[in-house]
Amino acid sequence: MNSSERLQAVKGMNDLLPPASAKWAHVERRAREVFEAHGYREIRTPIVEYTPLFVRSIGEATDVVEKEMYTFADRDQRSLTLRPEATAGVVRAYLEHSLPMKEPVTRWWCAGPMFRHERAQKGRYRQFYQMDVEAFGVAEPTIDAEQIALLHELFSGLGIAGIDTVVNSVGGPEDRPRYRDALLAWFQPRAAELCEDCRRRLTTNPLRILDCKQDADKAVVREAPSVLEHLGDPARAHFAGVQAALDALGVPYRVDPRLVRGLDYYTGTTFEVRGTGGELGTQNALGGGGRYDQLVAEMGGPPTPAIGFAFGVERVIMALPGADEDFEAAPDVFLAAHGEAARLACLRLARTLRAAGLRVDLEHRTTSIKAQLKRADRSRARAVAILGEAELAAETAQLKDLSSGEQRAVPQAELAAAVRGMAAAPSRRHGRAEPEV
Ligand code: AMP
Repeated sequence: MNSSERLQAVKGMNDLLPPASAKWAHVERRAREVFEAHGYREIRTPIVEYTPLFVRSIGEATDVVEKEMYTFADRDQRSLTLRPEATAGVVRAYLEHSLPMKEPVTRWWCAGPMFRHERAQKGRYRQFYQMDVEAFGVAEPTIDAEQIALLHELFSGLGIAGIDTVVNSVGGPEDRPRYRDALLAWFQPRAAELCEDCRRRLTTNPLRILDCKQDADKAVVREAPSVLEHLGDPARAHFAGVQAALDALGVPYRVDPRLVRGLDYYTGTTFEVRGTGGELGTQNALGGGGRYDQLVAEMGGPPTPAIGFAFGVERVIMALPGADEDFEAAPDVFLAAHGEAARLACLRLARTLRAAGLRVDLEHRTTSIKAQLKRADRSRARAVAILGEAELAAETAQLKDLSSGEQRAVPQAELAAAVRGMAAAPSRRHGRAEPEV
């Protein structure tokens, strides 16, 4: 690299800095709580896998495999791919660790970065974060509804407004040939209206035409035969079961037969939750997923019904109201030192207060007491405790409540309790431009 060239992150890949990271942490913490409240346990899989895993599971004719994967040869000349989604790796781990033999039902969640070489734009990145939920071993439609409800409740609990929950069934393998024939009968005479990719999809996988980014809004696609009219009895009964369970849970949703989703492994139920507010714009899909009852067997395991979803953390952050700063925890107390001896006393006292569970900040740089008080104020701490020579001798501190302005001497041994007893931190203040002292 030329030394005059500016160092830059890879296009479509972002740094996450404070205070934005605090909003992310809030979403991730909340999601973890909700997942675990539903019995899902965490797993972590590598971010790279051997390339055929994705080609086989996601499907050769999908956009993800055809155009978007980051694939490279490692030093042993094996083809590796940065994971574009989580399910393939999770299914591999499920089989590699013999889970089908160990437990009848496996419920896992995972989180981490995914990589797709897409056209980078607001809400669409080349490295993005997903949180992912997968359940293996349950064929009954109540778990489909429970996952949809989980996603809906997570988003509404976070305060996201305008949530739109869309469900569909793409049918099982027994329904596919029938629907494929119907799509071909519709699209073949109208092939001239389709994009080049979709004309190719007529021979590879006509279902993919329905979610083509270029053609999805064209009348030829909107008026295509509905998958719901081509479901056999089992798929129809299952989908009715999903809707009955959603109704029983009181989850608002609508059925959209165009919701086929971009990966080949889906069978039966598919769903997507969209946001209509915040900064989302056109990239409004917050999360989605569906059943993949064939995938485990296709990857060499026993026949195993499965269902899962992923949501995109960036999208959820965009939809979530509240300034980033509002998600940052301010210190409970800021320690200010008057003189060298007091600085060391503050350092020790900070350790004691932190061990008592408080968030404590102090000034390490040599600055005046005035500058320290200004920094304490800027830090939005609930209180400041000042130690000078007199306080050192008396083993006290001057504790000042930064919202009321009240100040009193408190024995150092009682400081933690005194801080804890104060009113909640003052409300957050934004847009303060004064330089740090
Ligand atoms: P998918 O794995 O394609 O079903 O996507 C699931 C969710 O991940 C979507 O609803 C988005 O919230 C998010 N997502 C997918 N692709 C991207 C991307 N390129 N950039 C940001 N978020 C994405």
